[in-house]
Amino acid sequence: MNSRDFDLVAAVEEAFERLERSTLEFEHRPAQARMARRWAELLHHRGVLAVEAPTGVGKSLAYLVPALLLRAAGSGPIVVSTHTKALQEQLITRDVPLAARALDRPVRAATLKGRASYLCRRRAHARLRQRRLFAGAGGALDGEALERLESWIEQTRSGEFEELATLGLGAGLGPASALAADIASDPIFCSGPDCDPASGCFAKAARREARRADVIILNHALLLSDAGLRQSVVAEAGALILDEAHQFERVARETFGVTVGMQDVARLAARTDARNGALRLLSRSLRRGRSAGVAERIVEADQAIRPVLDHTAALTRDLAVLLPDGVVAARLGPDVDLAAVSPAALDLLLGALGSLIRALERALHEAETETGALKPGSDDALAEGRGRVAAWIETEQALRAVVRLEERDHAFYLDRDERGTPRLNRRPLRVGGALRDSIFAHAERVLLTSATLAPEGNFAPAVRALGLDPSEVESECLESPFPLDRMVRSVVLEGSAPSDAAYVDGLAAAVSSLAALRRSTLVLLTSFQMLEGLATRLRAPLAALGVPLLAQAPGAPAAPLADAFRDRPGSVLLGTASFWEGVDFPGAALEILVIARLPFPVPTDPVVEARSERISAEGGDPFKELMLPEAILRFRQGVGRLIRSATDRGAVLVADPRLLRAGYGARFAACLPSRPAVARTPAEAAALIRDFIETEVLPCPA
Ligand code: SF4
Repeated sequence: MNSRDFDLVAAVEEAFERLERSTLEFEHRPAQARMARRWAELLHHRGVLAVEAPTGVGKSLAYLVPALLLRAAGSGPIVVSTHTKALQEQLITRDVPLAARALDRPVRAATLKGRASYLCRRRAHARLRQRRLFAGAGGALDGEALERLESWIEQTRSGEFEELATLGLGAGLGPASALAADIASDPIFCSGPDCDPASGCFAKAARREARRADVIILNHALLLSDAGLRQSVVAEAGALILDEAHQFERVARETFGVTVGMQDVARLAARTDARNGALRLLSRSLRRGRSAGVAERIVEADQAIRPVLDHTAALTRDLAVLLPDGVVAARLGPDVDLAAVSPAALDLLLGALGSLIRALERALHEAETETGALKPGSDDALAEGRGRVAAWIETEQALRAVVRLEERDHAFYLDRDERGTPRLNRRPLRVGGALRDSIFAHAERVLLTSATLAPEGNFAPAVRALGLDPSEVESECLESPFPLDRMVRSVVLEGSAPSDAAYVDGLAAAVSSLAALRRSTLVLLTSFQMLEGLATRLRAPLAALGVPLLAQAPGAPAAPLADAFRDRPGSVLLGTASFWEGVDFPGAALEILVIARLPFPVPTDPVVEARSERISAEGGDPFKELMLPEAILRFRQGVGRLIRSATDRGAVLVADPRLLRAGYGARFAACLPSRPAVARTPAEAAALIRDFIETEVLPCPA
């Protein structure tokens, strides 16, 4: 270690001491200090460090302080990638300011979003010249709303669509809406260097600003999907920190995957056609009497859209045979012969797509080359047209990719879009190689951290899945700083197994008994079917007790329900997938946690099934290598919802007797915050929990 690097480790200790002296609410935490030291050492000699840091360690500060000291010594910006927006907000509002105080110097932080989150004024101006297009966008904007939007477009300083929510335009013009897509910054439609700099480019300004920042915060999906961003930001970074790293592989599988469905095709068609789309823009740019040939090509291109829609609809109808009502997803294994399922539609669709692309290219080519065909200032119309051609080429390539069922390193399956229509999907089984080449090969110093990264202290599976060699990754597994055995009572309910017909009745009896304690209770489930069965059984008894029941609906986001749960102390919340992690209920906002069944992945899930087959084919054991580690990770995430601070207390009830009976049960029991008591009946479980919760104790020391 040279003197400068030695100074970094010493400087970290000094910074934390300064923080302790200057900040009343900050106190020394040994686990945090240990993590900060390990990370500072790694920053010195470069490489990859993996740290499992349970709630309460203060991991964000442990990585920010050393990394920002490195930045202060002249390194590139520090890049922090997270899975959730909540963590990004916490970093910006709490941890970065604390780190700045520790360093005793200002720290510039920037949150980076995808280009689609920013307005492109050039596109918006072009669209505003076609006011009808706004009004036609799902009827989202009437005259008054349109005026508010116009005034925002001219006045906004950040260009972030998020601002629109404060203008009451969020519902019709959220970042995900079709209208926003028409006026958002998009590399496909970007005129790049030709763009008038005076008009201001919010997306590029945000990226420029980020590169000047000391710490750049973004999410995994953006980091994985934007190759340009990776090249510029990761390659120049002083250090790359992947927080909530346990989600990185899953997000990579989604990001590197492909999905094609009727809705995608219909949306793109509407943004292309001569009624409201790019062809209308082009046709309004034509000079009267000087462009008959181009007008004809535009009509031909518009007519080429219909066959694409018809053949997509025919293919969707054919595929529906493989996805009967009630079935959420169906795998398309190598044995499935799509030509037999849909003998003509797929070929006809590919042919129609080719014709459409050629027709669009012809129209654009003639518009560009026929002298005097276009009015002056028609560049925007041409750019939009070229953007649509690129989007249709992408659609054609995606369609070819999702039907190459013979590729063994991918899972292929059908699922449903938001309207229930079948769509085709392809997901890579392994993403390690791609992650190594696109991310880790370009980053000199990397931290992987999460509260759940190393089941039973073993980092190797998670590290390998990310394409890294465990022997080349340093690691540290930190203990919880909380005396969890004193803060949590853990109970396991004996009784029927989740596969038994009577299981949900027993679960409902247990939750009813707990509801009578009038403490905020979260029930984590693994399927909507079970959630609905449980909700049906709980409605009457909870109503009789006067206890509010909140039940997650399929497809509903977690945040509004989580807010309602916080606002109604003593209520019972039934949640699935999105409630197992990423939601925070500190203190009395959550006192009783019920885990209905051990969260094994669904074996018939197409991607799980394909990954299992691959492991078997290689001589491995899918249960040991995939199902069990994933279930343990999810179980630990779920249990982690209960204790969020040093003063929390509560109880966890596991209503799955496999934890007691199965050979692997002890591995789940070891993840509980305290040694579990066994209850033979729901009433006994409620009594054990009541005795613990209603016992007054002094707050636990931090
Ligand atoms: S540079 Fe591209 S995204 Fe930015 S304002 Fe210009 S056209 Fe829009």
